[in-house]
Amino acid sequence: MNNSEKVKVLIIGSGPAGYTAAIYAARAGLTPVLYTGGQPGGQLTTTNDVENFPGYPDGINGPQMMIDLQKQAERFGTKVNYGLVTAVDFSVYPLKVTVDEKQIVEAESLIIATGATAKYLGLPSEEHYANRGVSACAVCDGYFYRGKEVAVVGAGDSAAEESTYLSKLCTKVHLIVRRSEMRASKIMQHRVMNTPNIEIHWNTETEEILGDESGVNAVRVITNGEKKVIPVQGFFLAIGHKPNTDIFKGKLDMDEAGYLKVEGGSTRTNVEGVFAVGDVADRIYRQAITAAGTGCMGALDAEKFLSEKETEILAK
Ligand code: NDP
Repeated sequence: MNNSEKVKVLIIGSGPAGYTAAIYAARAGLTPVLYTGGQPGGQLTTTNDVENFPGYPDGINGPQMMIDLQKQAERFGTKVNYGLVTAVDFSVYPLKVTVDEKQIVEAESLIIATGATAKYLGLPSEEHYANRGVSACAVCDGYFYRGKEVAVVGAGDSAAEESTYLSKLCTKVHLIVRRSEMRASKIMQHRVMNTPNIEIHWNTETEEILGDESGVNAVRVITNGEKKVIPVQGFFLAIGHKPNTDIFKGKLDMDEAGYLKVEGGSTRTNVEGVFAVGDVADRIYRQAITAAGTGCMGALDAEKFLSEKETEILAK
């Protein structure tokens, strides 16, 4: 078995950022190789309908969109491999990447599109009602709950922003805050507190999400030892995301939350030839369209890097 593979452009991650990078790199004749990671298709495969991606007037099913993106990337010559990158070595060039703890890939450039994972509370009912009332993205799924009553859990900027967003679509938003204060910025808290159809439940923990075969119909919470059931049709998590950057710790610059740092207006990380695109380097926007946009930037940055490198070699 050949245990080492040499590639010009290696992409890790198979969400909209990774596949868009692949489409651009493939069309530039760079025959990229993409490793899907542990969740082929990324976060969008956990969503039903995507209605905010431009170009789909009737919306598109999340998993179908990812199948289409994969086909489009393959059509131009991307090699898509199923595998998880388990280690990287940036002290050598070509960059050394280990897949599934055994396969070595030597890459002239690397585009990281490993994304971020929404945090969940860890309740079995969350998993049970995933896509049937439980969501970790109000901008993606809020529209399906218009005219309904929903709950949001969290107390940071995301929770404040998502509650405000949902308050424009839903009859009522119950914001479940585990402490007696929010950590969201003052201006965003002010907005939440001044929105008449947002009710804040302070010192409140979620105990269970309740429902039946048609989906969520209530949430059971506990406030200062007292249990209560709040009828809601949607339950939104806004307790933060975790960027998938564990394997890059100590190897790439990241912020305190673990998001990869890139040079302003580019996808360049602090290591030459390594680019970061999509949610892994974006703690603010985290949308499929912004991920796709930076995926395109990553491919163009990698292409430029490779051609400069080639010119350098020729000049020697
Ligand atoms: P944060 O980490 O800032 O906040 C997470 C919130 O979730 C905290 O209030 C925390 O509560 C709460 N939480 C965590 N675990 C649980 C749990 N098990 N049960 C109940 N509540 C829980 O994450 P955000 O996603 O809000 O923000 C991430 C970053 O992105 C921040 O830097 C933020 O400023 C930024 N951001 C900026 C926006 C903007 O400027 N428009 C919009 C969205 C995000 P506790 O406070 O008790 O720890």
